[in-house]
Amino acid sequence: MSPAITLEGVTKRYGDLTAVDAVDLEVPEGSLCGFLGPNGAGKSTTIRMIMSIIYPDEGRISVMGGSALDRKDDIGYLPEERGLYRKMRVVELLRYVARLKGIDGSVLRARVDDWLDRMELPDVRRKRCQELSKGMQQKIQFIASVIHEPDLVILDEPFSGLDPVNSRLLGRVIGELHGAGRTIIFSTHVLHQAEQICDRVVMIDRGRVVLDDSLAEIRRTFDPRSIRVEASRDGEELLERLRSLEEVDSATLHEDRETIELRIGPGAPGEGGSIPAGILDELGGEARVRSIELRRPTLDDVFVKLVGRSVGEADGAT
Ligand code: ADP
Repeated sequence: MSPAITLEGVTKRYGDLTAVDAVDLEVPEGSLCGFLGPNGAGKSTTIRMIMSIIYPDEGRISVMGGSALDRKDDIGYLPEERGLYRKMRVVELLRYVARLKGIDGSVLRARVDDWLDRMELPDVRRKRCQELSKGMQQKIQFIASVIHEPDLVILDEPFSGLDPVNSRLLGRVIGELHGAGRTIIFSTHVLHQAEQICDRVVMIDRGRVVLDDSLAEIRRTFDPRSIRVEASRDGEELLERLRSLEEVDSATLHEDRETIELRIGPGAPGEGGSIPAGILDELGGEARVRSIELRRPTLDDVFVKLVGRSVGEADGAT
């Protein structure tokens, strides 16, 4: 599929700081792509350049074959800086925004009502924006960015400030937009939020892209290498037996004396992630084993592996 967005050698400097450093990137059409990385990594700067709000010092950007300015009616953008017309009533604001994008008449009214329902905001139509909670305002701003049903949706930290229930709701709606064929980019410094919804991951650290791949490929590359076994009583003796298996690289007993963490050697388990047969055989006859779990590496684990520190540790590192 042709790329919706292409960046070639894109660099942006602020004085001595290189906020975005020679970034090459292709976002395939129809993908749901997470820009992930710690605060200060360069995600917003990259997004603002894609949106032609600021311009790179070097390099080239193509958005749907041109610039974002040429295609602004086909793009929906949620900026990191939030802000609504405070005195305006919600329904007036959304109708105003939709009219600016060329939607009118009965379609306009139905669209606004549908979106308020979809974002579970049934009772705010007549409220002024300033009367809404931060989370509600954010949901309204999200609606304002997608109400014209754009082909390309770019969301800068869409989950920040939302509680877990609303984060899940927004994640579901983003997934639905993707399912309907839209290309979506969103940024977040909370990696597990991306893990649940995106099909493509671009990890950014200190202005550089450190990983750009499909989630499926990342899962294949960063194979699960860890198995957690929970015993129903002291696991010391079981630990020793597991430790002696050739498939097991190392085995540790947690402080609770019941949870055993096994690291498995290269080559096992294979693609798709299965528990090596030798380990299953050893555990098979054990009545005192409560659970065996193959731990899938999280995107946080992948980030640590690539840059040597966690997203939390890297936050504000620039
Ligand atoms: P992220 O979105 O990943 O949190 P940003 O793109 O906002 O990161 O910022 C990347 C780096 O560029 C940070 O160090 C930030 O302080 C710096 N930066 C961003 N915008 C400006 C600006 N207008 N002037 C100076 N420095 C900036």
